[in-house]
Amino acid sequence: MTRGHRRIAVGGFQHETNTFAPRKADYNAFTSGGAWPALTRGEAMFGDVAGINIPIAGFIDEARALGQQLVPLAWASASPSAQVTEEAFERITGHITDALAAAGGLDGVFLDLHGAMVAEHHQDGEGEILRRVRQLVGPDLPLVASLDLHANVTPEMVALADALLIYRTYPHVDMAETGARAARHLQALLTGAAGRARAFRQLPFLLQLTAGCTLHDPAKALYEQVADRERGAVSSVSFACGFGPADIWHCGPSVVAYAQSQAAAEATVQELYDYVTAREADFVTPVWTPREAVARAIERSRGARRPIVLADTQDNPGGGGEGDTVGLLEELARQGAEGAALAIMVDPKAAAAAQQAGVGAEIAIGLGAGSGFGGQRPLQARYRVEALGDGRFTGTGPFYHGARMHLGPMALLTLGGLRIVVASRKLQAADQAIFRHLGVEPAAQKILALKSSVHFRADFQPIAEEILVVAAPGPNPIDHRELPYRNLRPGLRLMPLGPAFEPVGV
Ligand SMILES: [Zn+2]
Repeated sequence: MTRGHRRIAVGGFQHETNTFAPRKADYNAFTSGGAWPALTRGEAMFGDVAGINIPIAGFIDEARALGQQLVPLAWASASPSAQVTEEAFERITGHITDALAAAGGLDGVFLDLHGAMVAEHHQDGEGEILRRVRQLVGPDLPLVASLDLHANVTPEMVALADALLIYRTYPHVDMAETGARAARHLQALLTGAAGRARAFRQLPFLLQLTAGCTLHDPAKALYEQVADRERGAVSSVSFACGFGPADIWHCGPSVVAYAQSQAAAEATVQELYDYVTAREADFVTPVWTPREAVARAIERSRGARRPIVLADTQDNPGGGGEGDTVGLLEELARQGAEGAALAIMVDPKAAAAAQQAGVGAEIAIGLGAGSGFGGQRPLQARYRVEALGDGRFTGTGPFYHGARMHLGPMALLTLGGLRIVVASRKLQAADQAIFRHLGVEPAAQKILALKSSVHFRADFQPIAEEILVVAAPGPNPIDHRELPYRNLRPGLRLMPLGPAFEPVGV
């Protein structure tokens, strides 16, 4: 075959599932959008994803540069939460497979997936998507998928796809770049330059979310090792940190490699497996209690020229939190923190009340705790409305670069020395534009409290004096021993050097 133009079908379906989170992702969660585009199908998909730091956008640009002709399927994502409902999974997977069935002759398929999706009726969401796509296109058509660094990769996913390519940064500043890598890899599969031999191995312990941050060691050094091993007969190497709060058999980190020979793929996987397991103790990450963290932040902020950042990791909307817990907010108020700003408190009722009252008004309301996590109650107080916003702005930091946000009505409320960014929809506080939308310059604050685990570091680490990871109560526990697991693999350690999971009732 000597045709210049290859026909490649492209689509995506992203969800990171925290099976312990308070709310599921229904069809509406995928059609309402947030930071990334709402469900998009057909030709409109190309414009909707253009210029955004997401894999499909990077794939499209690179594939076009390679002269490929692209056939749009469908693309959808929703904020991390509990399971994708059966209805949402079936409808969105159906959009992809219907378009694929109608696509005519193809030379390959690319899917932008997450890798940690759990549906109500399928523990391995991506394995099921790939199974249905493979069934349609047959065993020989090259099928490549990109995955999030937090993928819980399964043997089925490895068997069904010809290649899985995984992000190498957390904060994920390389999502579009991973899509571009996938385009080059698919091209290499078509020309025979990349091999289809593959090896896969799961690690024997779960990683905490914060341990995967590639801005510092040990994850920084680990991902340098990953990239370094991609040479010679080895065409692609990936390491997934896994996503701990998922009560499924295949939860956890893994390594996957593709090569011209089975021996080369297996040797690479073994080397990386040995590298990580030899450093297990290095992957334990420190955390602060809210009381200690706020006290230290107040003390340190007195002489500091830059803000002290508190990461409210356990309510991170990027990990399945609802962005409405009040533990850190209450502690900041209780200790009388001055010059502190918190983002994002998700509370549509509070945002509506502020919009109705207007700038300068005082409103007596209960703020936050709408999802009722852990029996929390809204923080009752008189708040002053300092600014209002329509929730429409564009991400400016390296992670949310180009993302066209629509967070619904927003408000900046003040309570003593605290300023609270309130939004109607949830979003991880990982971009300075969130504050600027309401007239707050983040670098000018003494303390910044951010509902995020690691992604905030891409935009906030450069302006931070110090960063403290705080364990205020929330649905995304940094200590997996707090989670009531039932379905993990027996023997899997819940933390680095931690206790092994044993199924109950055996
Ligand atoms: Zn991720």
